[in-house]
Amino acid sequence: MRLQLIQVAYLASSVLFIFSLYWMNHPRTARRGVFAGVAGMTLAILGTLLQPGISHWGLIGGAVALGFLVGIPLSWVPLTAVPQRTALSHAFGGLAAGLVGIAKYYLLLGEDPGHLTRFLMTAIVTEVILGFLTFTGSLMAAGKLQELRWIPQRPVTYPGQNAVNLALLGIAVLAGIGLILRPEELSYLFPVVIVLSLVFGVLLIIPIGGADMPTVISLLNSYAGLAAVAMGFVLDNKLLVIAGALDGSSGLILSIIMCKAMNRSFGNVLFGAFGQVQAKAAAGEAKIAKSETAEGAAQILEEASLVVIVPGYGMAVAQAQHRVRELYDQLTKRGVDVRFAIHPVAGRMPGHMNVLLAEADIPYEKLVEMDDMNPDMPQVDVVLVIGANDVVNPAARHDKASPIFGMPIIDADKARTCFAIKRSMNPGFAGIENELYFAEHTYMLFGDAKAVVGEIVKQLAGTGGH
Ligand code: NDP
Repeated sequence: MRLQLIQVAYLASSVLFIFSLYWMNHPRTARRGVFAGVAGMTLAILGTLLQPGISHWGLIGGAVALGFLVGIPLSWVPLTAVPQRTALSHAFGGLAAGLVGIAKYYLLLGEDPGHLTRFLMTAIVTEVILGFLTFTGSLMAAGKLQELRWIPQRPVTYPGQNAVNLALLGIAVLAGIGLILRPEELSYLFPVVIVLSLVFGVLLIIPIGGADMPTVISLLNSYAGLAAVAMGFVLDNKLLVIAGALDGSSGLILSIIMCKAMNRSFGNVLFGAFGQVQAKAAAGEAKIAKSETAEGAAQILEEASLVVIVPGYGMAVAQAQHRVRELYDQLTKRGVDVRFAIHPVAGRMPGHMNVLLAEADIPYEKLVEMDDMNPDMPQVDVVLVIGANDVVNPAARHDKASPIFGMPIIDADKARTCFAIKRSMNPGFAGIENELYFAEHTYMLFGDAKAVVGEIVKQLAGTGGH
């Protein structure tokens, strides 16, 4: 009876996980997706606790309390810090898989070495390699994104780096094969595999620049998923195999989406050292950007018939989405057609802008994907860039030397007038100058996005809508 109950709980949990991912496809159903995921995980834990072999309730209770202690503060991070928070979760997942592998190996080695079959050893070795490299790799990625002082943000490269990394991984894999073939005689290789995997995780991340970190985090997500699949085989737990496979494949799909949106290949992300400091422009090339006041911008905006708002990372930092909603209301009240052009990698994770704008109750149908918006750009009276930078940089279209060359962008430069809100002339994530800001019809609105949009709204509210 109890075993049947566990099977039912596991089955329901697998179904909930699949629906959770499906519902997360759209902002309208995303909340339901989150609840389904939480319900699935709760059922999975309850089902596991029902397993006959479970004992040491004190230790389990302590571990659950510790998990809560770490997990609850992690849920308080702002939306802009979600990528590094996610990386931390992958690090914990990888560590858990690695530790389970260690425990299983040494337990069986001491008590029942005959059970260390080739199949089980393959699962253990895979779990340990993927788990530990995900652990250190994700910690490094989280540190880079959090801009920790003692972790270099820029890619660290040296000649022969890829060869060194691959050799290290090769040695770890060879040692792992040795362990699979002779788990008892070659047991001294087990710690070697662990240490090499930990070191490989660090070396894998140091040549990668900050701008590629979200993609790498998503890739590490799929490694953590694969480690969980291996763990499922080690523990003979089908639910872990299913959940790990879902995690692994969704991480991979997300990385592919991001790579496509940035027009980069996996190889380029992993080995391209994107984000290295670029040589400064030659002296004497100083260009001047024109600036405008909120009052001037308000006047032009209210006379437009089609306004396109391009949100970016700066809107997220300033938490300006509610002011943007007010601006949307003011302009639509005057009969202006207002649309939002959404770049797939605006912000720091896919869907970042959609989530923020949905939070401010902007109608979904006003959010237009980049590819659908670009053909209409020349007909747009005013494009209002709010804290976006790289995703509107025309250099991506023509400057072969630019690190973002080839990345599809929103053609803000093709609109009749462009206003760009940001605090300074500092570059965006890719660390490069944006020629849009120096274009003839572009006017900078310097300041914090929330304050500037708030000021424009005040001006518009003052003149009143018709
Ligand atoms: P960027 O990071 O290029 O630029 C953001 C701009 O916002 C900065 O130039 C900054 O200028 C401005 N800003 C910051 N804070 C504020 C504030 N409080 N008020 C007003 N402006 C502010 O952002 P984009 O969204 O254009 O581009 C995203 C970048 O991230 C791309 O390079 C993309 O490839 C990368 N990326 C994104 C991923 C994703 O999934 N979304 C994944 C991988 C990479 P200033 O300091 O002068 O204010």
